[in-house]
Amino acid sequence: MALHRGPGAPDERPVAINPFYGEANPAVGMTEAPPKHRLPDSPMPPSTAHQLVRDELMLDGNARLNLATFVTTWMEPQAGVLMAECRDKNMIDKDEYPRTAELERRCVAMLADLWNAPDPSAAVGCSTTGSSEACMLAGMALKRRWARRNADRYPGARPNLVMGINVQVCWEKFCNFWEVEARLVPMEGERFHLDPQAAAELCDENTIGVVGVLGSTFDGSYEPIAELCAALDALQERTGMDVPVHVDGASGAMIAPFLDEDVVWDFRLPRVASINTSGHKYGLVYPGVGWALWRDAEALPEELVFRVNYLGGDMPTFALNFSRPGAQVVAQYYTFLRLGRAGYRAVQQSTRDVARSLAERVAALGDFRLLTRGDELPVFAFTTADDVTAYDVFDVSRRLREQGWLVPAYTFPANREDLSVLRVVCRNGFSADLADLFVEDLTRLLPELRRQPHPQTQDRAAATGFHH
Ligand SMILES: *Cc1c(COP(=O)(O)O)cnc(C)c1O
Repeated sequence: MALHRGPGAPDERPVAINPFYGEANPAVGMTEAPPKHRLPDSPMPPSTAHQLVRDELMLDGNARLNLATFVTTWMEPQAGVLMAECRDKNMIDKDEYPRTAELERRCVAMLADLWNAPDPSAAVGCSTTGSSEACMLAGMALKRRWARRNADRYPGARPNLVMGINVQVCWEKFCNFWEVEARLVPMEGERFHLDPQAAAELCDENTIGVVGVLGSTFDGSYEPIAELCAALDALQERTGMDVPVHVDGASGAMIAPFLDEDVVWDFRLPRVASINTSGHKYGLVYPGVGWALWRDAEALPEELVFRVNYLGGDMPTFALNFSRPGAQVVAQYYTFLRLGRAGYRAVQQSTRDVARSLAERVAALGDFRLLTRGDELPVFAFTTADDVTAYDVFDVSRRLREQGWLVPAYTFPANREDLSVLRVVCRNGFSADLADLFVEDLTRLLPELRRQPHPQTQDRAAATGFHH
């Protein structure tokens, strides 16, 4: 989480609060607000504490207008009740909560089936806190398998991981934390994600694997996973090197199985060793759950799996955390059960319909050029047309924010640093009505933006953030 520093100057100003605040009785109530940066000296009544915290949170944004995030912001009331009932369950305590553990096991089995594992009973997998943890685990398995194959040269040889420069920041973290060299395929011209041939060319005997992203964070496009596997098959034929593929399906692994059944990207490809997804993105669960699956036990070296008996039982676990809440896993199972394949298809289809139609209407305004159209992930990226010189994407982002819309603007990485884009992420809950309002607001802003003498946003970083 954010790495916070202590306050420069602790706020110690005593702030008087009136008797309506919390308990009116001064014996139990308070006449001054508590300190912000050290523990208060004594307890306060729960109603007062509740009120104080709620008031602080009032200034958080309105999630429905946030078109930056991929993460679920709405679930049914029944799911909320179920999660509240499970908030005291610790996922690690498999012996105390065997039914929660069983629901996790069923989710893994359902995903193995959804992702076409050739033998779903041989597939192994686990829940995680999100895709980032899932990617760490998958990356560790790749690294360990490589180290085993190269036991005679390792340590000494430096492992590397090949991927497009558009990968999510979790892969940079993986490489940094686990001391793996990141070999990045740059963007080129109008290609904004990994090129299979270029990826194969970066591989050598120290390559632990190649990451393919199903649903690039930068523009929502699917990377060509089948072509990537074919390029690595050809590499193996030429050189004997057998490089496994991990699919980062943080978003797409919960879209493609329902909407793009003929796109072959999953365990149907023998080279795909493992897949991750974020249950809390298009898995439609509140934040705090992801999934990692391996094709078979062979793909997940046994020595990475821990068995502890402190809590009774000795169920094997693979995770970075020890304790973790069980509620999200239960909510994932609820959602699988509740929607089924047809339900997921309907939800994802309507989200994609909103994305496609919104992309078309943005293009029809004339000032913008689409990079993607919302027809893979329900996400599209667009930039200003060549003849627009009065304003740039950072101005658009800033002005939309004044209307309450959060639409990030950011520059692309090498070799397209010249290109800056806006990105709209459509999610369940971003309805056609809200999309209409968005187009109305954008349309209303354009005449003012066109009248600017030149782009106005000085502090681009402050104007807009890039939300992975
Ligand atoms: C969001 C995302 C991640 C990180 O997932 P979290 O669940 O937020 O940890 C990793 N990869 C891709 C492609 C993503 O979109």
